[in-house]
Amino acid sequence: MPLQLYNTMGRKTEEFRPITPGKVSFYGCGPTVYNYAHIGNLRAYVFQDTLARTLRFLGYKVTHVMNITDVGHLTGDADEGEDKMVKSAAERGKSVLEIADFYTKAFFNDTDRLNIRRPDIICRATEHIDDMINLIKRIEANGHTYTAGGNLYYDVTSYPDYGKLAGLNLSDLKAGARIDVDENKRNPFDFVLWFTKSKFENQALTWDSPWGRGYPGWHIECSAMSMKYLGEHFDIHTGGIDHITIHHTNEIAQSEGATGKKWVNYWLHNEFLVLNKEKMSKSSGDFLTLQKLIDQGYGSGDYRFFLLGGHYRSQLAFSWQSMDSAKNALKNLIQRTSRLLEAAGNVPSGNEDKAGSRDWGSASARMENFRTALEQDLNTPRALSELQAVIKEGLNGAILPADAVKAVAAMDGVLGLRLLEKAAEKGGDSGGSSGSATLSVEERQRIEDLISKRAAAKKEKNWAEADKIRDMLAGEGIILEDGASGTIWKHIPKNGV
Ligand code: AMP
Ligand code: ZN
Repeated sequence: MPLQLYNTMGRKTEEFRPITPGKVSFYGCGPTVYNYAHIGNLRAYVFQDTLARTLRFLGYKVTHVMNITDVGHLTGDADEGEDKMVKSAAERGKSVLEIADFYTKAFFNDTDRLNIRRPDIICRATEHIDDMINLIKRIEANGHTYTAGGNLYYDVTSYPDYGKLAGLNLSDLKAGARIDVDENKRNPFDFVLWFTKSKFENQALTWDSPWGRGYPGWHIECSAMSMKYLGEHFDIHTGGIDHITIHHTNEIAQSEGATGKKWVNYWLHNEFLVLNKEKMSKSSGDFLTLQKLIDQGYGSGDYRFFLLGGHYRSQLAFSWQSMDSAKNALKNLIQRTSRLLEAAGNVPSGNEDKAGSRDWGSASARMENFRTALEQDLNTPRALSELQAVIKEGLNGAILPADAVKAVAAMDGVLGLRLLEKAAEKGGDSGGSSGSATLSVEERQRIEDLISKRAAAKKEKNWAEADKIRDMLAGEGIILEDGASGTIWKHIPKNGV
């Protein structure tokens, strides 16, 4: 079966046909490096990674490009609010470049821990200002721009297909119009290509341009950098679903406005990770990072396993209970893989195998199911079941253990759980930095409930009650730490682990 992907452009599942047979050009929107990535953002990057790994497994040569946004992204995606980088630098008493460097390193530290392969090309916005200026010149030459209040704007009425990705036309968009504060705009959906003095006199980084000294709007970087590295027409573009209505819609208007032809063939968007029924977001101030999960006793692999257990186009609700289930399931899988390795003797792992690169022997049917699951719009929950089944059958003799090990290696080349490595290393300890995982689900829930009760007491300024709860938990070895993004806890068992 050929690979089927759900294309947001057109809202239907389509057979994937690359522009150049055997090759895939793929651009994924990267992070804005003004803060740590939260675990919702990391879902977007595990999705990009799963897509790139799947394409390689299916035999394609993939060029995966990702940007790092270090200029131009305002707190509102439609040019409202403050510049995220400048705001973060001011709050932390650092320069914008220091902030960008720090959070770029933190981002790759997280993605490395999640076993997300680095994209082939990683490009920073501030290193591509000339490319953006050249692209804006082309957009301007084609009559899509106007100047107002010193800024250069994209005139969305000049591009008849505006809103196509979101399945909306300009009149639908107008009906649901956002309130926009920028009086320079002729139309609320117009957006900035180049800012000059009219906004943010204190902008840290500015460049000379035909429109005056200033800095680029957020959307232009993705158009300019993707085309620089992948050409004017490429295969796949990804991002979270929040990017559909503004960021990607504007990217298309820019790119196609400059070239006059189709830009991207397949648009793939991941759904949100939600916490308490709300999208996790950096601006809410209440977000979880990978480090916080690790501090709570989980391994980064547990989080990857949890994510793969949901389809990328379904909302996924985060809870500590589901992290516990993921942790236990992965631990179990590693232990069983370890037993499988023993049963198989010394088998060359064959990791990185392509689906069609060898005869899978007695594991052929499972490998075929695994491949089909991925070909059906990256059905990772079903792919995981096939992995579990091949291990089970390798242990009960339905599949030769040596064949099962080879299949596990190939499957894990896509899923990225580092199963064989961990099985050989530890025989099943998926790790984590505190002792909290030794607590039962019920105990953990009780602690979470007490923390919520304490937060409510603090809100009511009932400090005595709040302190009582903290001290009581401390007596049980549960240490609370209050931070800007809420309270986290650590379990320091009495034996001092
Ligand atoms: P940002 O750094 O804010 O530009 O976001 C990075 C990526 O994370 C983008 O592709 C977003 O669409 C995606 N994203 C943001 N919030 C969530 C969430 N709660 N769940 C999944 N993806 C998200
Ligand atoms: Zn982008």
